[in-house]
Amino acid sequence: YRAKATGAGHVCYRPEMGSELAERMELARKLQRALSEDKLELHYQPKVCLRTGKLVGAEALLRWHDPERGWISPATFIPVAEARDIIGVLGKWVLRQACRQLKAWQDAALAFPGRLAVNVSARQLDEAGVADSIQAIVRDEGLAPSDLELELTESGVMHHVERAIEIMKTLKRAGFALAIDDFGTGYSSLSYLKRLPVDKLKIDMAFVRDMLKDHHDRTIVTTIIGMARNLDLDVIAEGVEEVAQAETLRAMGCDEAQGYYFGRPVTAEVFAQQWLTPAMQAACVE
Ligand code: C2E
Ligand code: MG
Ligand code: MG
Ligand code: MG
Repeated sequence: YRAKATGAGHVCYRPEMGSELAERMELARKLQRALSEDKLELHYQPKVCLRTGKLVGAEALLRWHDPERGWISPATFIPVAEARDIIGVLGKWVLRQACRQLKAWQDAALAFPGRLAVNVSARQLDEAGVADSIQAIVRDEGLAPSDLELELTESGVMHHVERAIEIMKTLKRAGFALAIDDFGTGYSSLSYLKRLPVDKLKIDMAFVRDMLKDHHDRTIVTTIIGMARNLDLDVIAEGVEEVAQAETLRAMGCDEAQGYYFGRPVTAEVFAQQWLTPAMQAACVE
């Protein structure tokens, strides 16, 4: 049991700590089972070009429906997977599944534009040979690294920055595009940003959410877009829910956007119907 030291120097056990721990262990056990029984699935959210409004890619997002507990958010179970060493196997499953889906769309001649983005936890980078295993999965599934974009959170990268930079260099050389997710929340300095071999910054949705009301958030968004331009990086805003946000971002020179305003994460089937139909494909030809 975890215990908390009080100011008086006593150690006091809080019952909710025990149940929190039991809760996490239970979640980890269920997650492991869901993973081995292939009960997880990926949903896909469109990314659009703010200048043309056209589809430029998608992000694969993990979904878990537990028969007893209903939908469990990745914001809840990814940290559990990271803490309990499930993330390695889980991350490989996600990448393989995303590759299979993209391959299926390609084989069905559904022209998927751009790259399919997959989230990679920084904890996955701790595993020996991770760059090789990522490349092997992509090759096995008949795709090329240039079909994919890997999203790494800024805070995760900064946690083990030297190791992260080495692995990112290897992946970039292999042909993957790399994006820094949740950018603006992870305290990376400009000097690190210059050293990170990335192609794209994803502005964290916390800044996008309030940018029309909060002067400081707006300044942060403007600054990130300017920084990206000066460093020759692409920039995408996440969490765009309103047309006014999309218009403001476009006027600020933001390249791409993702958010409920354009489309929610949906199953592969719905994604193909909504975004990869012949009409949409025609609309996607430059
Ligand atoms: P993220 O990678 O930053 O993904 C964006 C999150 O914002 C997703 O939440 C998405 O559903 C949500 N979102 C998209 N548009 C909007 C919007 O307009 N408004 C709001 N309020 N939310 C929006 P989700 O799917 O719950 O995922 C949460 C986080 O869990 C992700 O954040 C990512 O860090 C992690 N995650 C999800 N799937 C995976 C995965 O396959 N592997 C790893 N390592 N992490 C994952
Ligand atoms: Mg992401
Ligand atoms: Mg994000
Ligand atoms: Mg996020």
